Amino acid sequence: MTTTHYDAVVIGAGQAGGPLSTALARAGHRTALIEREHIGGTCINEGCTPTKTMVASARVAYLARRGADYGVRTGPIEIDMVRVRQRKRDIVESFRSSSERRIVSTPGVDVLRDEARFVGPKVLQVGQDQITTELIFINTGCRPSQPRIPGLDSVPTLNSTSIMELDTVPEHLLVLGGGYVGLEFGQMFRRFGSQVSIVQRGPRLLAREDADVADAVADILREDGITVLLNTAAARVEPVAGGRIRLVVNSAEGEQLLEGSHLLVAVGRTPNTDALNLPATGLQADANGFLPANDRLETAVNGIYVLGDVKGGPAFTHISYDDYRIIKTNLLEGGARSVDDRPVPYTVYIDPQLGRIGLSEDAARAGGRAYHVAKMAMSHVARALEVDETRGFLKVVVDAQTQHILGAAVLGIEGGELMSMLEIAMFGQLPYTVLRDAVFAHPTLAESFNNLFATL
Ligand SMILES: Cc1cc2nc3c(=O)[nH]c(=O)nc-3n(C[C@H](O)[C@H](O)[C@H](O)COP(=O)(O)OP(=O)(O)OC[C@H]3O[C@@H](n4cnc5c(N)ncnc54)[C@H](O)[C@@H]3O)c2cc1C
Repeated sequence: MTTTHYDAVVIGAGQAGGPLSTALARAGHRTALIEREHIGGTCINEGCTPTKTMVASARVAYLARRGADYGVRTGPIEIDMVRVRQRKRDIVESFRSSSERRIVSTPGVDVLRDEARFVGPKVLQVGQDQITTELIFINTGCRPSQPRIPGLDSVPTLNSTSIMELDTVPEHLLVLGGGYVGLEFGQMFRRFGSQVSIVQRGPRLLAREDADVADAVADILREDGITVLLNTAAARVEPVAGGRIRLVVNSAEGEQLLEGSHLLVAVGRTPNTDALNLPATGLQADANGFLPANDRLETAVNGIYVLGDVKGGPAFTHISYDDYRIIKTNLLEGGARSVDDRPVPYTVYIDPQLGRIGLSEDAARAGGRAYHVAKMAMSHVARALEVDETRGFLKVVVDAQTQHILGAAVLGIEGGELMSMLEIAMFGQLPYTVLRDAVFAHPTLAESFNNLFATL
């Protein structure tokens, strides 16, 4: 066993850990980046990159089937899952290797490919060797959760990672969980040709969204031929002859039996703190396994910081990356940034997309603010009509006094991009009247802001 001292150690090469390791090294800190699996973490390897690559394949299948709507006749549509998977693997591989090259070629960074575990205050065991340091950054992320449902272990299940390795289209995909992961895969596999049933315990899909948004999402999925069961809890799982899976669910109507060929479990993510042996360094995970930090990402132990999903709160790539920027600003550039002053935008990559930023209407009401809501169906947007993609609506919450935009939900074609335009208006603290009266190029989706805000 050897013991090596580093100026700084980053555990986990996720969306924060990778760039942070190179920034620390460039600032003159001899840095170890410890990664037990893949450089790039969840986003590149198992999250955003592969899912959005496969969502794109599914959308092509959808548009190919709709060819006749546009006057384009096509033959029968066939899905080649091996090719879909290879395209996904190729894009993941290219993203991962370029991010790996960037890190490995940075002088001052040692990449240690093993699991890190605390064995003392600021002492880490990595394989056979130990590392000491004063400065530690924990970016270990989360993994798919496996809920305790009787019988779940008696059948093969899929999670958000393994489902992307399928080489055939499931005949009937049962999806447990109506969060964004369950919905993206549910719609994707419906478009690949599976029968899909989504089981959601709560009263709405995407539990944090306003009811009108969640209802519209459910309507869109149902229109696509997906069975969406709300207020429905999984009671038990049973294997059925021939390798099929029976999911027994309970709802107000009583017990119901669903039978499928595959079961995707998408009920949330478990933080990767269990392998870290945090108490050895004086830290304690919370009841759900997250490692809490203050608004500057400092943990309870001086010199140990936590970044990304493992700290709890919004779990998105751009948030993890911004955690890196906060640490860089505060530790390497003498600044004083906190997590409190940042927006949390996100996009759900169902089709049409749901782009979200800021306050929902529910949150504005709960906060007791005086607000107005501007809402307009995508079927009133010229561009959406021209491309025949009119599902969804634009909804913006506006402060009644300042006329500033407080939040937006854009459920519609390119909803993520439209939401981002509204986010820029929020950065600039523009009153909504500026967008109402602005000259936008015709026919863009952006020009819909004229009519949307004219409804106020
Ligand atoms: C299916 C899916 C789709 C998603 N889609 C989106 C999306 O569209 N947009 C978006 O913004 N976000 C999306 N996310 C979320 C996004 O992937 C994460 O928020 C993002 O990856 C941030 O992760 P992170 O930096 O916290 O850590 P991660 O990227 O999870 O990296 C943590 C790393 O730490 C390593 N590690 C863990 N424990 C140890 C240890 N003890 N020793 C050494 N190494 C360790 C892991 O191997 C991993 O590489 C998606 C997630 C999933 C699962």
